[in-house]
Amino acid sequence: MYLVTVDNEKCDGCEECVNACPQMVFKITDGKSDPYQAGECVFCETCLSMCPNTAITITEM
Ligand code: SF4
Ligand code: SF4
Repeated sequence: MYLVTVDNEKCDGCEECVNACPQMVFKITDGKSDPYQAGECVFCETCLSMCPNTAITITEM
C-alpha cells in the first residue's frame, strides 16, 4: 500500500494527475489535487512524471 500526498503549496490544480492516473486516485478540491483514493495507488509513477510542479510524493507504507 502506498501513501500519496500532495503539497498544496506547490499544486496549482492543473489536473494533469487527475487525468493521468489509471487508478483515479486524484480529484480536484478547492483548486488543489486531493489524493482521495490513495489506497488504489499501484505506484506506476505516472503522476510523478506528469506533475509540472513536483507536488506529489508517494511512499510505501
Ligand atoms: S503512482 Fe500511478 S496509480 Fe499511483 S497515484 Fe500516481 S498515477 Fe495513480
Ligand atoms: S499534476 Fe501536480 S500541480 Fe497539477 S493538479 Fe496534480 S498535483 Fe497539482
